[in-house]
Amino acid sequence: MKNVLITGCSSGLGRALAIEFARQGWQVWATGRKKETLSDLVPLGIKAEELDVTSEKQVCQLISQVAAEGGIDVLVNNAGYGAMGATVEMPETEVRMQFETNVFAPLKLVQAVAPAMIERRSGTIINIGSISGQVVTPFSGTYCASKAAFNSFSDALRIELKPFGIDVMSVKPGAIRSRFAENAKQALARALPENSFYKPVEKALWKRANASQDRPTSAEHVARVIVSRVKAGKASGSLKLGNGSRSLPFLQWLLPESVFEWVLSRVFQLNHLK
Ligand code: NAP
Repeated sequence: MKNVLITGCSSGLGRALAIEFARQGWQVWATGRKKETLSDLVPLGIKAEELDVTSEKQVCQLISQVAAEGGIDVLVNNAGYGAMGATVEMPETEVRMQFETNVFAPLKLVQAVAPAMIERRSGTIINIGSISGQVVTPFSGTYCASKAAFNSFSDALRIELKPFGIDVMSVKPGAIRSRFAENAKQALARALPENSFYKPVEKALWKRANASQDRPTSAEHVARVIVSRVKAGKASGSLKLGNGSRSLPFLQWLLPESVFEWVLSRVFQLNHLK
């Protein structure tokens, strides 16, 4: 049985991927910051393990554990969240935490897992980036920057690991039904200063934090498409899935930059500021 290790399985896409991989006969190692959030996956034959992706110690321990049970065939870097807020007011600690979670942690995981894959000349790495790494919107500059960085790492890895028989898929989702907005709102609550320059349009900040749940595609659908690609041996290249993942880049390509930004400033009420 092949091993797939997935990060961030307490909710949303990670959870749906864990269930779908298990349904398709894989040995799933579902990981999450709190092991108890994974307990209902265990009866499905899924191994549930504690993993905060920013903890180097936990990453090393888990990878050794899976190595002792056959090694990792598929790594899914899914854990992540959206640090929302006005770029000029983002506390540095929030920016650093965003990059630790969304960029450095998955990169470290790849660096820990890939050497064994290179030696075996086989393996698959699925990186869950975001369309936000391509199409930037106001009040999400930190998140967009982290996903742009991760998308770029992922695209470079694909070319560099191909000679060793390793597939890398950069998934760039649009809106997916999950707890993403809940977590983004918590991040915004931490970042928004009392005396914010953006107080008059505070509603627009919360609207951006909630945007991922605007007509979202189901996480189960997205998981089915990803797993079917892996099963078919076609888990390479970029994959855009979920509401807005194709239409937003198309609009951005179609419209002159000034018009596109005019639309965004209206959507997020920036024209109300003086
Ligand atoms: P979600 O329901 O909030 O799930 C995010 C998962 O990441 C949760 O399990 C969360 O665990 C975990 N996580 C966060 N920080 C972590 C850390 N330090 N260590 C381990 N796990 C951590 O949201 P989702 O939509 O399924 O998000 C999955 C991925 O899709 C993310 O990378 C996100 O950026 C990306 N994405 C989502 C959307 C969307 O519209 N939903 C769109 C584009 C991209 P806790 O429960 O412990 O917080």
